[in-house]
Amino acid sequence: MRVERPGDRRFARAGGILAVAAGLLVGSALAGVPGAAAGLIAGLLLGVALHRVLDHRTARRRAALAAPFPGEWREFLLEAYDHFERLPEDWRRRFEKDLRLFLAEKRITGVGIEATEELRLLVAASAVTLSLGWPDYEWDQLTEVLLYADNFDRDYAVGDSELSGMAHPWGTVILSVPALRQSFEHPDDGYHVGVHEFAHILDVDHTHFDGIPVGFYGARAREWVEAAEREMRRLRRGPSAFDDYGAHDPVEFLGVAVEAFFELPQEVRRRHREVYSLLSAYFGQDPAAWDDARGLDE
Ligand SMILES: [Zn+2]
Repeated sequence: MRVERPGDRRFARAGGILAVAAGLLVGSALAGVPGAAAGLIAGLLLGVALHRVLDHRTARRRAALAAPFPGEWREFLLEAYDHFERLPEDWRRRFEKDLRLFLAEKRITGVGIEATEELRLLVAASAVTLSLGWPDYEWDQLTEVLLYADNFDRDYAVGDSELSGMAHPWGTVILSVPALRQSFEHPDDGYHVGVHEFAHILDVDHTHFDGIPVGFYGARAREWVEAAEREMRRLRRGPSAFDDYGAHDPVEFLGVAVEAFFELPQEVRRRHREVYSLLSAYFGQDPAAWDDARGLDE
């Protein structure tokens, strides 16, 4: 994420010109020269308002980054999140910046529980893990994150139920707080509900999930589909670094593959080289190499 969104300036300029032109045209059609003057003024005001909205967002982002990154947040992340710890220093700084911009922009709401600072950090860390290699990515498809006090069922009744998370095609992500905490407490079991649900959001293409990450087109998309089908067959036959949950549905395969990529990178690189290299190129990240660099073996 950037302080000033790419395209904002162009968008504001084009929007302003369009508003002025539309004002002139509509005004003159309705009431001749006086109408055109009134339309021009209305168009100018609209253009100015648009600028102000975008400037406001840039200012909010600047404010979010104005102070140094809070030391207690850094300590918390180092303590709670193995993936943050594995990042090289410059990537960590980038992670901290993206984390703050995500928190400044995205709504995270507790349902029946308080969305504490700690929980908000865990949510943002899950999302930023995926987008860290994409400086222009904005999580635009994500509308809101809801935190539930426990797992839930398909009618959203909270209790000891099957679902620990859910991502809706319209952009709401629901996370069960105990499952989210557990995901961070066990960094190398291939299970991470936050990473899993945010990976579904990457799959949102015109409001449906198809198991192909947004940004994979043409030959790359075909490569992914073929690799995924092969791995799903393999999963159905026997053990794999990927969770069985992804054995039958390409949408869920994408989720579990992304979880394993970040939680068991060296194992995925060794046992599922093609998936590893596709995801590594896709995310612009090489977590297995970072684990090599810190002297870890599988
Ligand atoms: Zn899923």
